[in-house]
Amino acid sequence: MPQTTLPEVPLPAPGPLIGTDRLTESSGGSAVHRFPATGAADQPVPMAGAREIDLAVAAGTAGAAEWRALTPDRRRDVLLRLADVVEDHGDELVALSIRDSGFPLRVAALGPSRGAGGLRYYAGWADKIIGDVVPTWFGSAFDYAVSEPIGVVGIFATWNTPVYNIGLTAAPALAAGNAIILKPSELAPYAYLRFGELCLEAGLPAGLVNVLPGGAEAGTALVEHPGVGKVHFTGGGTVGRRVAALAAEHLKPVDLELGGKSANLIFPDADLERAVAVSVGGIHGGSGQTCITAGRMLVHESIVDDVVEIARKQIAQHVLGDPFDAGTTMGPVITEAARTRILAMVDRATREGAELCAGGAAAAVPGADGALAGGYFVEPTLLAGVRPDSELAQTEVYGPVLSVSTFRTEAEAVALANGTPFGLSAYVQTRDVGRVHRLAARLACGSVYVNGRGGIGPGMPFGGFKESGYGRLGGREGLMAFMQTKNVWISMDDD
Ligand code: NAD
Repeated sequence: MPQTTLPEVPLPAPGPLIGTDRLTESSGGSAVHRFPATGAADQPVPMAGAREIDLAVAAGTAGAAEWRALTPDRRRDVLLRLADVVEDHGDELVALSIRDSGFPLRVAALGPSRGAGGLRYYAGWADKIIGDVVPTWFGSAFDYAVSEPIGVVGIFATWNTPVYNIGLTAAPALAAGNAIILKPSELAPYAYLRFGELCLEAGLPAGLVNVLPGGAEAGTALVEHPGVGKVHFTGGGTVGRRVAALAAEHLKPVDLELGGKSANLIFPDADLERAVAVSVGGIHGGSGQTCITAGRMLVHESIVDDVVEIARKQIAQHVLGDPFDAGTTMGPVITEAARTRILAMVDRATREGAELCAGGAAAAVPGADGALAGGYFVEPTLLAGVRPDSELAQTEVYGPVLSVSTFRTEAEAVALANGTPFGLSAYVQTRDVGRVHRLAARLACGSVYVNGRGGIGPGMPFGGFKESGYGRLGGREGLMAFMQTKNVWISMDDD
């Protein structure tokens, strides 16, 4: 393999972490985890089933009680310590998240500081959760409303950016006073499991953070279990619909962070190199496997040739290779099945008339000694002349594929941007400040980024419109998502 900049880190035992116990087998069977850059199987991952979810709820209930008995300033301090511990083990977590998902080092390396940043941000909330004194009607009374933790909450944890994700999901849930059951998919068990161990090392009560890799069986049990008060789901729309339907059957609150089809609107007055880099950066860094990838470029017709040329040049600068190598800009996609699905979409798009301007095939990346020959690499791909009603323009790719379509007027640009079932994010590239505000108001999505890629900061409310889901992570809304409100009315009558 090419030179790596991180030490080889032993993989944690992949069985569920419940309280302080590591299970070596579990009732949900087992799955094989493969390192996406080589396709080699690591070790079987014991998958949680209903029995383990039941055990985790019991551990979580005890952990939540202990956590809630602490004063808010103590909870704040414990979360701040956890943030330090996450950063102290940063190299290890980065290495594990690369093994999990194959994201390249230069992206994975951001995880610990972002994850710790989210923990610190929400630690700051832990001792500032206040209630309201409510004016009363109908006689003399004192009335107040307080926000309380829910108890045990279930979190479907994403495989794409595990350490980063901790700061957006685990951090607010814990700061709100809950215990959590994190359910990573079998595709990415390692970094989350190590995070669970680090929670214990940082002094969080046993059972406060439980980590149970699993698939549909564990996911279903998590939603159905009466001891789980709320579920946060991040994932695709197909499973999201099932989770929402199941939650409705059990009258359980659920927040859904689903997929997107983010438009990048490029106007003639934009800095074109920078505007294009917003899209190309997304398909390089994470191979297009982030929900807010600006994969759908909508370009004013007067500049489309320039934009395609710039995109072609920027794409050509990618370095596909060993994700552990600091020089690699682009890693593999998550599975062989994902690669097959992505390439089939590209194939259908070209057969529908789109022009293939770059990529479009599986990439041969042998690495030293052919070690990467079995990896799931896809060439970064650019398609121009994509019809706005075509599959490629309407469906999430979740792979390194950019599409280019054109518009003539600002109104048409907005209509195209809003013309999919999704509403997660949109990007606007223009120097016209009036246009920025007009578009920000008219784009039907949860996040609008102007002249750059803003990412998902812990203070920013983040979530979808339309089929991109409901509920918000980040900021005060992200904290309140893990709390419930209680009103207390006290008579002041003296008779
Ligand atoms: P997925 O929907 O396939 O799986 C999500 C989770 O559901 C996994 O943990 C999986 O084990 C579990 N699951 C699968 N079948 C289930 C079932 N029948 N019942 C209950 N649980 C089940 O999604 P994925 O491949 O893990 O992630 C990719 C998707 O996630 C993309 O659509 C992407 O856009 C989205 N995503 C969204 C955000 C966001 O914040 N909006 C962030 C990252 C990823």
